[in-house]
Amino acid sequence: MDIATRLIHTGAAVEPVQGALSVPLYHASTYAQPSVETFGAWDYARSGNPTRHALEVAIAGLEGGTVACAFGSGMAATSSTLLLFQPGDHLVVCDDVYGGTFRVMTRLFSQWGLSVTFVDATHTANIAAAIRPNTRALFLESPSNPLLKIIDLQAAAALAKDKGLLTIVDNTFMTPYFQRPLELGCDIVIHSGTKFLNGHSDVVCGFAVTADPALGERLRFVQNAFGAILGPNDAWLTLRGLRTLKVRMEESQKGAGIIAAWLAQHPRISQVWYPGLPGHPGHAVHQAQSSGPGAVLSFEFDSFELTKKVLEGVRLMAFAVSLGGVESILSYPAKMSHAAMPAEERALRGISDTLVRLSVGLESPDDLMAELDRLMNS
Ligand SMILES: *Cc1c(COP(=O)(O)O)cnc(C)c1O
Repeated sequence: MDIATRLIHTGAAVEPVQGALSVPLYHASTYAQPSVETFGAWDYARSGNPTRHALEVAIAGLEGGTVACAFGSGMAATSSTLLLFQPGDHLVVCDDVYGGTFRVMTRLFSQWGLSVTFVDATHTANIAAAIRPNTRALFLESPSNPLLKIIDLQAAAALAKDKGLLTIVDNTFMTPYFQRPLELGCDIVIHSGTKFLNGHSDVVCGFAVTADPALGERLRFVQNAFGAILGPNDAWLTLRGLRTLKVRMEESQKGAGIIAAWLAQHPRISQVWYPGLPGHPGHAVHQAQSSGPGAVLSFEFDSFELTKKVLEGVRLMAFAVSLGGVESILSYPAKMSHAAMPAEERALRGISDTLVRLSVGLESPDDLMAELDRLMNS
């Protein structure tokens, strides 16, 4: 079935008692059991909740997986996934990984004995060169945040498989609507569902998804044991947001393409990163492994003065952290998503103080460009 149909129907079984077309919101923390010998489908809500379950079924189905675990944030999904490893293990990680992922790896899991090597994963050879005898997994993001670097996921997953490693991909920017890493041979997909999946800037949530049932059991064990679960109310809101993912992604992507092309020829803009532009270094690889460039782009102004003026002057776009909402969000990676990264690490990765990231929402792109143009010319 096409993903457009799956978005509407996966995890949306008609509720059998009343016939409701919307999954009921179950707040119960515990469920009465029918007998000592056999328990019912649900016992305690950390282990499972029918509303959360419907969302997990939907996400697993969309990614082409068998198991999805819903967590209280994208970072809870990432951290819970990292609990699959043991002290002494090593991971190879793409170098402009999400700032919070960088932080949890270098400040928390490092204390606990998990080591990481950051590499420019746009060249598979760099990944191969960083693999050690104790390496257990690759942790990748494509497109990456905030420079939209593209990693050849199929080549990385093939290398990992050959070396007996897991491949973990943060698929937040693409969503399963545009890219499905499990189908490219990757083992675990992570999401900050806070972004496009929910899409309305009113929930913080995360997911870990896998196609391998045994790996799914291990993720489910961590979800229940560590307990960083998603609550039923947020699960319900996310399910509702998810149903319109196709129209939101298509429309926002259309706007992003128009705005990226306009910025690329604007005299006050020195650089635009968007995988949909033919000049983007990862354009061909991205096109081969996804069905669209998405709705996030980043660009650099020609001065810090102008950067500050635009960030503080926008009214239609929100100057805010986060992305993937129905409203356009302009953010400042150096002080926001990558504030957790030391200044010298940011500089090494090309995250300069004139770089901004734009997540295009559902407004008319003409109005968004008029706002930027006014601020750039005033
Ligand atoms: C926001 C984000 C995260 C973290 O998710 P939270 O829901 O904020 O915890 C992880 N990865 C990427 C790419 C993100 O944009």
